[in-house]
Amino acid sequence: MVQATKPQVKSVDIEALEQRFKEFLYAGKGKVTNERLSLLRTLYSHEGHFSVDELLDLMQADHFKVSRATVYRTLDLLVQSGLVRKLVLMDQDTRYESALTTGHHDHMICLDCHRITEFFNPQLEQIQDEILEQNNMEPVKHIHQLYGRCTLTDCPGKKTATNGPSR
Ligand SMILES: [Zn+2]
Ligand SMILES: [Zn+2]
Repeated sequence: MVQATKPQVKSVDIEALEQRFKEFLYAGKGKVTNERLSLLRTLYSHEGHFSVDELLDLMQADHFKVSRATVYRTLDLLVQSGLVRKLVLMDQDTRYESALTTGHHDHMICLDCHRITEFFNPQLEQIQDEILEQNNMEPVKHIHQLYGRCTLTDCPGKKTATNGPSR
């Protein structure tokens, strides 16, 4: 059977991305501001799937001062521009990832430590498309999320006997 693999990470030219975002904003979507450009820069200089709080922390670490409202508004614009992907997880937990450093992939999420792992399996992709075709539908997109629990002993969310009473 075909193993699921991690999607390949492509390097991107941040200047070109900024230019793309500027053109999107110039086309009547909003003002080009340093805050907006710095959020794009921060998102692309870290690998991962970030919550708004995590992005605020990263921006602070990079010495960019932005308000939460600006981050929300800018993320909306970045998603519309196609530069950032929004992930809605279980319980409406929302994460953001750079859209151009990886191709299509799906996600598995640990319910204990909330670690998000990317995977890509060509067979699974094909089966999903075939199911659509068998039902007279043309594939457009899919969101595939697997929820589980890390079996690794280093899962930071794992409850152990020394962690107090188990629920
Ligand atoms: Zn997929
Ligand atoms: Zn991802």
